[in-house]
This record gives sequence, C-alpha cells and structure tokens, in this order.
Amino acid sequence: MADRDWDLFVIGAGSGGVRCARFSAQFGARVAIAEERDLGGTCVNVGCIPKKLLVYASHFPEDAHDAAAGYGWTVGESSFDWSTLIENKNSEISRLNGIYDGLLSAAGVTLVDGRARIIDPHTVEVAGRRHTADTILVATGSWPNVPDVPGVEHAITSNEVFHLEQQPKRVLIVGGGYIAVEFAGIFHGLGTQVTQVYRGPLFLRGFDDDVRAHLAGEMRKKDIDLRFDTNVNSIEKTSSGLKVSLTDGSEVEVDQVLYATGRNPLTKDLGLEDAGVELNRKGAIEVDEYSRSNVPSIYAIGDVTDRINLTPVAIHEGVCLSNTLYNETPMKPVHRDVPAAVFSQPPIGTCGLTEQQAREDYAEIDVYESRFRALKHTLTKGEEQTYMKLIVDRTSDRVVGLHLVGPEAGEIVQGFAVAIKCGATKAQFDATIGVHPTSAEEFVTMRTPR
Ligand code: NDP
Repeated sequence: MADRDWDLFVIGAGSGGVRCARFSAQFGARVAIAEERDLGGTCVNVGCIPKKLLVYASHFPEDAHDAAAGYGWTVGESSFDWSTLIENKNSEISRLNGIYDGLLSAAGVTLVDGRARIIDPHTVEVAGRRHTADTILVATGSWPNVPDVPGVEHAITSNEVFHLEQQPKRVLIVGGGYIAVEFAGIFHGLGTQVTQVYRGPLFLRGFDDDVRAHLAGEMRKKDIDLRFDTNVNSIEKTSSGLKVSLTDGSEVEVDQVLYATGRNPLTKDLGLEDAGVELNRKGAIEVDEYSRSNVPSIYAIGDVTDRINLTPVAIHEGVCLSNTLYNETPMKPVHRDVPAAVFSQPPIGTCGLTEQQAREDYAEIDVYESRFRALKHTLTKGEEQTYMKLIVDRTSDRVVGLHLVGPEAGEIVQGFAVAIKCGATKAQFDATIGVHPTSAEEFVTMRTPR
C-alpha cells in the first residue's frame, strides 16, 4: 500500500534478515532494515566466522609441530600471541561488516540505525521515529542463556570470548553443545588447559550416539578434561583466579569460565506482546509453514523462531519468504536433511537421521560404519581415528543418515548432503567411484552392515 512508508520493515540485520531484505528489494519491494549492533548479526560478529578463524589458529601446533617431524620438517621455535590473533580477526570482521553494508545499499535497502520496537501490526519505532510498513519481519536472532548460579557474573559467554584481552591459561567450559565443544578444541589447541563440564552422561545430545562417544574419546586423547554428569554449583573470585565448585564435590581453579549453555530467542522488549504476536514456552515466535506469525502482517525467521538454529537455515527461510511475498512464488522452508558441522577437533559432519531416530522412523535399517586412522597420520605421531557411519532404510535402500567425525568433516558432508537431498540409495552410493586416497571415499566403499 503506497500510503505506508515501506513494503517491508525488517528488524535485525543478521544472516536471515539481510538476505530477506536484499532479495525482497531486488524483487521490487521498498525495504528498510533496523539494526542496533553490528551488521551481520551473531554469525559474522560473535559466531560462525570468528569461531572458524580461531579454529584455524588453534590447529597450528598439531599441523606444524606434531605432524611436521614425521614428514621430515624441523620447525623452529614458535610462539603464539593472542592479541595479534584477536586484532587480525577484528579487522576481518570489520571488513565483513562493510561488505554487508555495501550489499544492502546495492540492493536498495535503507538501513536504520538503532533498536526497533513494534508499536502496532504495521508500525515500528526506531530512535524516536515511527515507520509504517505493510509487512514487518522479525529476525532478531538469539542471545546466550546463562543459568542462575552463584557467582555466574564472573563468567563469560560466546559474546565476550571473542574479545578477551588475554588468553586464559586455564578455562572451564560449561555445556555440551556446539559452542562448548568448539571452544574446548580452540582453547586446547592454543595451549590453554581446558576442563569441560556437561550435566548429562554424554555431550552433544541430539547427535548420533556413536558420533558423540567417538568425539569424547578423541578429545580425551588430547588431554581435554571432560567431566560428564557434572554441573557448576558456584563460582568464587579469588586472588589467583576463579574457584569453581562442581556438583561432583570437586573444585577447579581457572582464569575464565565460559558458559555455553544454549541460546534464547531475542523477543523481549520488541513490542511483540502489544502487537498480539504469540510466543511459545521458550519465548520463540510461533510461525506457520511460511514463517508467518498469528498476526497476518508480522513474519519471523531465524533463531527467533527456534526451528533449526543455524545460519544457513535462517538464510533459507529468508530466501523463501522474499519469494513468497514479492516474487509470486510461495516457498515453504524445508527443515529436513539439513547438513551441519560442528567445528570440534576433530570436527563432526552430519546429515539426515541419527541411528536412534532412524530406528523410530523405519521398520528395518542397516548401519554401515568404519573407524580408521587417516593416511596423513601414518607418518605423524597422531593417534586420531576417523569415524564414519551410514544409515540405510532397508525397504527403500535410501541412505537416511550420514555422519562422520574426522578432518574436513564439514567439507565432506556438504557434498554428500546433495545426494541425501536427492534421495540417493545405498546402491547408488556403491555405484559411485571413490576418490583415492581420501577419507571421504569410505562412504562409497562400505559394503558390510554392522
Ligand atoms: P546448544 O543448544 O547446542 O547446547 C547447549 C548445551 O548447554 C547443552 O549441552 C545443554 O545440555 C547445556 N545446558 C543448557 N542449560 C543448561 C544449564 N542450565 N546448566 C548446564 N548445562 C546446560 O547451545 P550452544 O550454546 O552450544 O549453541 C547455541 C546454538 O548455536 C545452537 O543451537 C547451534 O545450533 C548454534 N551453533 C551452531 C554452530 C555450528 O553450526 N557449527 C556453532 C555454534 C553454535 P542438555 O543437552 O542436557 O540440554
């Protein structure tokens, strides 16, 4: 409607919001996007991108020192400087913020600086100015959840860890999800002494059980102190660090405590209740298959809807929505067979069902698995084992789950995810020629079910 300021007003310039804004503008909509922090959201600023840079940094000792000797190299004395890494990382993130800015203006999207609040189903207020829009999209993401534990104010989250002035010599990581295992690997690789506590019997709940157990074994081989069935009772600041009392009765002294205990949808103080938008028990916006809330003019995508909380999923939801609204092509986001990687060390790649889920969904399944030492490690002192697993529905012969723990897991799973998306059968995997010598070829050469 021409009498409103905008066709689409997006709240939150993270991965999902920016993609939807740009595509909608390119389809001809008049679009504004509000952001109160840095462009690019969690992924660019305090998530995927800086995390992966830190993962690269932390691999150096293993790649250079441990592996080099077996291949005939003598590496001279080396040292690590945390501030250099953080400064270089910050410059790269600033460059990316600029690229996001450029992409938005090139697409004709107007950027509005500041915190947005919904006034009514067609009005948003930012920095005292009201904007009217036919459609409002909430793409505000999520924020670290920190449980109420005595002394928790001394702990940090993934928001702060990327900006620490000093590298901690000793760190305690609380949680057993993506962020916790990734930072356990990062800090360990950089030379920090790592203790990770998880409240359940085995971390990475929701991942395939064999994958979880395999990663735990590999992390323990590296001397990462994993403590399961344990949680934090209290944290106390002392003259020499932070004294953490654990529920198993033990105490650990560290320099930093990192809480990685999940993230909550960012729905507070947005005016959602005033506009009549329904939230679920976890505070996430309830949406239908087209990402529409119960208020017809208000949509939501990404972590704020708590469907699958991954950047590429938010982007997919944004692309679908822009097509639905402004390209006369209604598209429902598909949340099946979403591949994912955990950049633990070694990393995990996964697509499709876990063995446990497949047993519930299918009458009969076959499981193929392989455990081996990657070729690279035959000349190094590395004891790391790679684990690979295929889950096949016996009736249709379709591969319904694919999992691995090993080097380049993310790169490998991305390719196989296409096959799974296409409904590839085990016979088609078998008919595919392997690339030799690689680890990935194992997925097309497994012949005997477990
Ligand atoms: P996750 O939801 O993955 O894991 C949260 C962990 O914290 C779980 O182990 C959970 O235990 C534990 N936990 C929750 N509440 C408490 C509590 N009160 N006390 C102790 N432990 C608790 O969250 P993350 O913070 O690791 O990551 C947030 C999101 O970011 C994830 O949803 C993920 O999708 C995304 N992400 C993706 C990455 C990637 O794609 N590589 C990387 C990093 C993040 P329990 O299992 O028992 O509930």
